[in-house]
Amino acid sequence: MVSPEKQAFFEAQDVALTFDDVRLRTRSGHQAPLPDNLDLASRFSKNVELKVPFASAAMDTVTTSEMAIAMAKLGGIGVIHAGLSVEEQKTEVRRVKHHLNGLINRPIAFDRRRSLESILNECEDRKLDFRTFPVIDENNRFAGLITQNDLDFSEDLQLSVMDIMTPASEVTTADPDTKIEEAYSLMMEHKKKTLPLIDDNGEIAGLYIFSDVARIVRGDEAQFNVDERGRLRVAAAVPTDAEACDRIEEIRGDDGEFLDVAVIDSADGDSYYAFQTLELIKENFPDLDVVVGNVSEGASAGELAAAGADGVKVGQGPGSICTTRTETGIGTPQVTAVYESARAVEKYDVPIIADGGIRNHGDLSLAIAAGASAIMMGGMLSGSKETPGDILVLDNGSRVKMYRGMGSPSAMKASAASRKRYDVKGTGEPLAEGVESYVPYKGSVVDIVDMCVKALEKSMRYVKVDSIEQHQNETLFNRITNAGLIESHPHDVQVVSLKDKD
Ligand code: 5GP
Repeated sequence: MVSPEKQAFFEAQDVALTFDDVRLRTRSGHQAPLPDNLDLASRFSKNVELKVPFASAAMDTVTTSEMAIAMAKLGGIGVIHAGLSVEEQKTEVRRVKHHLNGLINRPIAFDRRRSLESILNECEDRKLDFRTFPVIDENNRFAGLITQNDLDFSEDLQLSVMDIMTPASEVTTADPDTKIEEAYSLMMEHKKKTLPLIDDNGEIAGLYIFSDVARIVRGDEAQFNVDERGRLRVAAAVPTDAEACDRIEEIRGDDGEFLDVAVIDSADGDSYYAFQTLELIKENFPDLDVVVGNVSEGASAGELAAAGADGVKVGQGPGSICTTRTETGIGTPQVTAVYESARAVEKYDVPIIADGGIRNHGDLSLAIAAGASAIMMGGMLSGSKETPGDILVLDNGSRVKMYRGMGSPSAMKASAASRKRYDVKGTGEPLAEGVESYVPYKGSVVDIVDMCVKALEKSMRYVKVDSIEQHQNETLFNRITNAGLIESHPHDVQVVSLKDKD
């Protein structure tokens, strides 16, 4: 529950505030030291947890599988953008889900009569980044195993799989109901990197991979954000129309096992169509978490939560590449929008995702203190190695990557989902609500998120809170003036970087 002092602060404001209008008030910590490790765990949606409260934006220059894998390994989540065909988006989501595998339920298996060449071609076409496969016979029964080594050391690609595979008689296998701990012991005992599970008919019922099993059983990589089966969590953006359900059905698979959360992606997240799409998805997939956005009014957030949204994304126009506010004049500044939305959804226990406008690390802490459970970033993560797109070298020698708004002219031209997001109507040139830009190449997103984590932790230490929930409820704000803002930044000095000069 938000403290009365925080409520009083926001109620007293006669203008809507954004990050540069406020700073957090520090508190005295004389009673006890804070723990060594602060708890940054949070939620992206009602049932989808985060180990750090960060998400990568559903944008075609930010999140495909590479970014989503990196974000989930860092404890956050990535939202695969919707500007892809259904097939492409499914491939990207599956790549994340297959990146670590505790138990692979339906491993890809090849017929023993196939040539090595055809298998390598299929791996290439399906962009598979692993090369260990069970082999089956004509009756679909387990016949053997091929590994990366078998394929690498074969000079004749016309050979068939059965010529080079390790035959079933020499492979250690186990029953279909083998638990991960038993699998670990068996693989350790027999020094095997793969363990196929075989049923009474001799058919393949699953496959364990040692590196993943070991990581889960030994509790290594505790920071990874994984689902209950030990696979990285991932979200997918979907447009506001009936196509959303077909897309979700295809992506999540027959048993609904491949997608953690769908994000209804609209610049006008409280439109009739956004509510309709939410209702449709909830009707068809009652057990799937659905986040809806974007909105910037408390009333809209509350109505979406009442209509069944499992998370509400807040931010209309704060983004670094957005022109919605200048083109249309709408949009509540982000701190007020987040606070009012968080208050409105409180009784539904629905998390708020603050989306866009993070310019400085301190804004992360401000967004959470305003009530956000997670923060979605585009610009902050843009230009990193894990974003889609090539590194370009400009005439002056600087290395850059493209970062563009999904409502920019080129993104709208490239994808129907972008046109849908910005509800393009009529003919002729659509009204752009975003811009294209180059941003400096920044190296790995691992280092960027590491700094975000450190900054959030440091801020929480200053205000003496040890969890995200406490930060949301208790941390107080000061409103600042322009003089206060100038004072906040380095001033009256010429800033230099001495990092590489010692
Ligand atoms: P950033 O982190 O760069 O400040 O903002 C990223 C967010 O801006 C995205 O998650 C998305 O909600 C929003 N966004 C992305 N493209 C556009 C655009 O072209 N126009 C507008 N208005 N918002 C955009």
